[in-house]
Amino acid sequence: MVNTNKQPARLESLLNNTELTNTISRNIIKVRKRISRAIKRAGRDSSKVRLIGVSKTFPKDYVIAATAAGVTNFGENRIQEGLNKASQIENKTNITWHFVGHLQSNKARKAVSAFTWIHSVDSLELLHRLEHAADEQKTSTKILVQVNLANEINKHGASIDETIQILHAGKMCHAVKICGLMILPPWSIDPEQSRPYFRQLHELRNSFLDKGFEPQMLSELSMGMSRDFDIAIEEGATIIRIGTAIFGHRQQKNIDTLLTER
Ligand SMILES: *Cc1c(COP(=O)(O)O)cnc(C)c1O
Repeated sequence: MVNTNKQPARLESLLNNTELTNTISRNIIKVRKRISRAIKRAGRDSSKVRLIGVSKTFPKDYVIAATAAGVTNFGENRIQEGLNKASQIENKTNITWHFVGHLQSNKARKAVSAFTWIHSVDSLELLHRLEHAADEQKTSTKILVQVNLANEINKHGASIDETIQILHAGKMCHAVKICGLMILPPWSIDPEQSRPYFRQLHELRNSFLDKGFEPQMLSELSMGMSRDFDIAIEEGATIIRIGTAIFGHRQQKNIDTLLTER
């Protein structure tokens, strides 16, 4: 058992389940308002933005509360935590799990068994391991290539050249399906600092389409978190990954983990 039980977030000690459900559903309403305002500003089609509730570090009750408010996609950044949480939720047929953290190649099997989407493929080796694992398990996994557009700052993510290699290799895969690109810009106090990264990812996608890659391999742009998802939507995000704005602040030690993972 991992820490999901050991880490009651602050909210949980204060709130019973009804209050938890109400608080989370109010948060989700606010997030949806921000989403629709950004979609309007950008003149985009609202069906083209998928909301993922990033439930990492929060116990299963938080996920259940968010499903009550209509969220069906959830993101985790640790395999075992995700597996445990999913197994604790009874009525999970409507839930789709996304892996958004850094994935080590040796965890490909478990990742494929627990997650429908993997947002963080950043090497050929990982792609091949996932293909092998998904094939073995007779399942199909949707993947995104995590691109690193800030080489000196981010530890994870593929360079542009590696991304091209992964896309080429992806054409030969049949158990995993590349669906697009993901980015995690360097953290900055000012969310506007994320905009150039979001814009560059969108432009990169367009340049890949010009090179002749199939549109189905490039239909998704996973970009934007609690602080900058409005900007990401303006810049073309099709998937936004929202933790804090829905579930509240994670405990400090988890935030520290998150920052060192970047
Ligand atoms: C934690 C995390 C998020 C959610 O972050 P918030 O700022 O809490 O919305 C999104 N994407 C990734 C990759 C994460 O690790």
